[in-house]
Parts: sequence; structure tokens; C-alpha cells
Amino acid sequence: MALVVQKYGGTSVANEDRIRHVAQKVALACKEGDKIIVVISAMAGETDRLIVLANKLSDNPREREMDLLMSSGERVSAALLAITLNGMGVPAISFTGRQIGMVTDSIHMKARIRKITGEKIRAALDEGKVAVVAGFQGVDEATGNVTTLGRGGSDTSAVAIAVAVKADRCEIYTDVDGVYTTDPNVVASARRIDAISFDEMLEMASLGAKVLQVRSVEFGKKYNMPIYVKSTFQDVGGTLVTQENSEMEEVVVSAVAFARDQAKITMLGIPDKPGIASKIFGAVATKQINVDMIIQNVSDQGLTDMSFTVPKNESRQTINALRPAAADIGARDITSDENIGKVSIIGVGMRSHTGVAAKAFEALAAAGINIMMISTSEIKVSCVVAGDEIDRAVRVLHDAFELALPPDQRKFKDES
Ligand code: ADP
Ligand code: ASP
Ligand code: MG
Repeated sequence: MALVVQKYGGTSVANEDRIRHVAQKVALACKEGDKIIVVISAMAGETDRLIVLANKLSDNPREREMDLLMSSGERVSAALLAITLNGMGVPAISFTGRQIGMVTDSIHMKARIRKITGEKIRAALDEGKVAVVAGFQGVDEATGNVTTLGRGGSDTSAVAIAVAVKADRCEIYTDVDGVYTTDPNVVASARRIDAISFDEMLEMASLGAKVLQVRSVEFGKKYNMPIYVKSTFQDVGGTLVTQENSEMEEVVVSAVAFARDQAKITMLGIPDKPGIASKIFGAVATKQINVDMIIQNVSDQGLTDMSFTVPKNESRQTINALRPAAADIGARDITSDENIGKVSIIGVGMRSHTGVAAKAFEALAAAGINIMMISTSEIKVSCVVAGDEIDRAVRVLHDAFELALPPDQRKFKDES
């Protein structure tokens, strides 16, 4: 008998039939003797629908109210799944984030989990019930306000709950049958990866592969909780996300990721002297905005430009945060470009292999794709390109490293 957390994403509970299908899968796992905690997302499109509704009613809805609003989507599906399970004769009980003691910090719309008390989950399991938990939400300990964990946050709820109850594994059920070498909806020849290390998955998720929310992988890595990504609709396939081990495919580049949700902010005409960067990025950091790639142009007559990327939905907030700093340092203007995106190649094999970045740049150049910004680390190379070139850039990089082929047939191998 195993203790298993199963998370079902929005498309998996998109309508009545799919909720019934999920209930049948849960019932089967119970029949096989496992104890099941289900973490559930809002029905497909529901979170977006609520956000659009709020934005129609106000130009600038308060984040506290947005969190209460958005958390309702997951509550609906949790209740509906518990109702369905009970109707099938499988005892089940649904909970909100608050009810299971999912305590977070106070940062609305991207709260971080602080602790999970989980008594109600344990009590439900002891009574032989399936615990169905509304994902994506928690409660701010200080104020009692409802918080949400950022888009895709039900993945993080699931892995964090698995850690808190010491589950044997966490299964993430979604609309693809595993983690692929790139988004299979963009590149049809993408290849499923059987097992991937937490480190690579962490990079993929933080560089845009939305199949897992990045915080969920951080939890998995920190507490060594195996995560299985599987299809809700097919019983085959699957990817295990786990600690790096010798059975994993030995490749230099394992995946291509992309993010469309980026904007480039440029501060123009900045005096080129010490302390400027700290003023600019200090101002952005106080708003908890994640700055990603940074580039400073060569200075001309003592003046320079500084560009960096932020999430698109935070570009307005970034510019507002920067205005006082810009006035203080005497910058000429601040502009934002939303027609950009970031493409990245990822692989732990890059640590011991040279020539990866050069090959990526060469492939993009041959395809006539202009690179606006570059950043590299031990296990990734990222390039900012024009927004309408993202799909093509992903295909070009996927082809250049022959990711559609089985690893042993690729020419660009790890020879270390
Ligand atoms: P859910 O609603 O189940 O949480 P998501 O839409 O958040 O599902 O995540 C699944 C989607 O992630 C897939 O439909 C796919 O388009 C996308 N995706 C992006 N990169 C990858 C990748 N490398 N492997 C698999 N899926 C990916
Ligand atoms: N419903 C939330 C979202 O759409 C959380 C999730 O699905 O994981 O982002
Ligand atoms: Mg998701």
C-alpha cells in the first residue's frame, strides 16, 4: 500500500465526462489499495475567465481580491470531484487550502508556501476517505487572507502536500504523457524523456516549460520527492523527475524551452557611473519583480542604456517602480518592448562540453533569427528573440541538437 498524491490539471477536469474519468482513475487507485490525496486545478479556462471578468470591472483590481476570486475555481472542481466520488460509492471529502492548513507568505498572486499542517488530510485518510484538495491556494498566516501560488500553482500544492504528508510519490496528471524535449504542441517531433533530473527540470520550468510550475520542482528537489508526469487520458508513457543518476540519458543538450510572457524594459540615457545598477534593480526588487536577463550598452559620452527582461504582466508595475529611480539618476526615458520571447537550450551535459552556445548561435544565425540578448549558465543558454520568431527559433534549436532522435543516435554527444 502506498500513499500517493495525484494532481489533475485544468484540461483533465474540463467538463463532466472528464471529472467522471478522473473519479474512475482515483477509484481504481483506491481499489488497488493505495491511499489517495487528490489535488485539483480549476476547470480549463476558468482562471483566465475570472481574470478577464475582474479586468472588465476595474483597470487595476486589488491583488487581495484577485486571490479570493481566483481561488474559487479550484474549490469548484474539488467539490465536484468529491461529489462524483461519493456518488460512485468511493468515500471522499473536499478541502480548501485554508482547511488543510496551507500557510503562505503575504505576497498575493505569487505566494510562497511556508508550512502545511495537514491535520484534516491525515484525519480523512485515517477514516478511509480520499482527500480532495483545492490546489493553487493558501492562507496568509498574518492576515488570514486567501493567497494564490502563481499561475500553474496547483503543481506546487501537490508536491508540497506530498512532502508534508510524507507520501511515497507525487503523480502529476496532465494533457501530455510526460516531459518532452520541447513542447510537443509546438514541435511535433519532440521526444518524451523517460527520466529527468530535478536540476534539468528546474531549468526547463524556470525557462518556460509550463508542464510543471518551477516551485513544485524546487520542493521535489529539496525534499527528494519523486514526481511522475503522466497523461490523464492514456495509460502509457510518463516521465520520472528525480535525482540525477547513472541511468539517465547521457546527453549534452536535453531540451529546448521557451517563454512568451516576457517584456524588455530599457532605461535610456543613464549616466555611466558607480551605483546606478543598484538603484535601478533595487527599485524593481522592492516590488518582488523577478528581473531576468540584463544587458548594458557600451557607454557613449558618459551615457549608457540598460535593458532587462521581466514578466510581461509586471511590465507596467516595473515602469512605475522605476520612475522615481530614473528621475533620481537623471535617466532620459524608460521604454518597454512586449514583442519578445526567450528561447533556451538546457542540459547538465553542458557542464563538461564546450561549443554548445556557439552551435546554438550558429543555428539561429543560419535561420536569419536575430538575437537581442544572451545569458548563459553552467547548464543553459538563453536568447531573447522577437516574439513572432519564437516558434521558429525553438524548431531550429531542436533540429540543431537532433533532439527528435534517440540520444545514442545524436551526433552532438557528451564525450567527457
Ligand atoms: P495542466 O493544466 O494539466 O496543469 P499545463 O497546460 O499547465 O497543464 O501544462 C501542460 C502543457 O505544458 C502541455 O500541454 C504542453 O503544451 C506544455 N509544455 C511545455 N513544454 C513542455 C515540455 N517540455 N514537455 C511537455 N509539455 C510541455
Ligand atoms: N488554475 C490555476 C491556473 O490556471 C492553477 C493551476 O491550474 O495550476 O494557473
Ligand atoms: Mg499546469
